[in-house]
Amino acid sequence: MAVYNFSAGPAALPTEVMEKAQAEFCDFMGTGSGVLELSHRGPQFSSVIEKTEANIRELMNISDDYEVLFIQGGASMQFAMVPMNIMSREEGGFAEYADTGMWSAKAMKEAKLFGDVKVIASSKETNYDNVPPVRRWKLSEGSSYLHITTNNTVAGTQYHVLPTAEDLKGTPLVADMSSDIMSSVINVNDFGIIYAGAQKNLGPSGVALVIIRKDLIEKTPESIPSMLRYDTYAKSGSMFNTPPTFAIYMLGLVTEWIKEKGGIAVIEEINIAKSEALYETIDASSFYSSPVHPGSRSRMNIVFRLPSEELEAKFLKEAAELGMTGLKGHRAVGGIRASIYNAMPLAGVEALVDFMNEFEKNNS
Ligand SMILES: *Cc1c(COP(=O)(O)O)cnc(C)c1O
Repeated sequence: MAVYNFSAGPAALPTEVMEKAQAEFCDFMGTGSGVLELSHRGPQFSSVIEKTEANIRELMNISDDYEVLFIQGGASMQFAMVPMNIMSREEGGFAEYADTGMWSAKAMKEAKLFGDVKVIASSKETNYDNVPPVRRWKLSEGSSYLHITTNNTVAGTQYHVLPTAEDLKGTPLVADMSSDIMSSVINVNDFGIIYAGAQKNLGPSGVALVIIRKDLIEKTPESIPSMLRYDTYAKSGSMFNTPPTFAIYMLGLVTEWIKEKGGIAVIEEINIAKSEALYETIDASSFYSSPVHPGSRSRMNIVFRLPSEELEAKFLKEAAELGMTGLKGHRAVGGIRASIYNAMPLAGVEALVDFMNEFEKNNS
């Protein structure tokens, strides 16, 4: 039975990538050893990390004004590293945060350890059911940066409009893109820092991808330890200490796969088709409902409800029996969540749509 894994993260990886990793698991590049067993300073791994960075730069069209770094500790460590490195320690120093979900709230909590956090917009009062319209935000002067979470993995919302250079007036835009990086074409030049835990759209857990504008690397106070400083990673090619070699290797295979598919623009088209198929099914029925404002709907995490929790439990059980796994909503919000990152094929979404229609017929 074909299994379609709708897990929110760690999430399904492309089948071709899993098979490639399996084929060279015990013997990488004719060495007789696996990637897991090779020195990070040796020629094989050096070629892996260089190729991975080159792929990322090519796919996202990243200029030489930016460093591409691989850092352990996931996105959660970036919640702390961002303020540690670039929040002003001067009297009155602060950063602005948009509070659009559980992960932005966690990012704010860490930032408060290092300075003042101003909430520029929040949808907390309505259970994070929307992304407050960016055009209405009033940025204050003197903010060290503005932090956003481009896709809210738990609530199922996503930014479809980003603050422009005109809105920002020089304030660096910092984005947690853990759950939608490389899912659509963006202009990296609009951002000061982009970071993403790899385990949703890019590869296995254990590594975060950080793309940082070079001038921001120089702001770190002396008191910050080596492992928590961006300049340490920038100066050492992310090899100050032993990096998560296998995770970086997998990220390399995933980026290779995106290139073979035709790049991010092609992937974006597929992501639009996948998410529209699910939202159309939800909107066409009075059995399924979306708790999210239509203008803020995520293309990555499609959250929906059934008429009762009993029916939701039955839905999850029957879906799993048909090979559709990982559909349970986050424990904080309940309901159903179909996470359809880049690796989820259209066929998986079509199977889910068929099942939803069938289940509605049998249970309403
Ligand atoms: C999953 C997720 C995180 C947490 O990532 P870790 O790598 O587990 O720290 C942070 N932000 C967003 C938007 C996420 O989806």
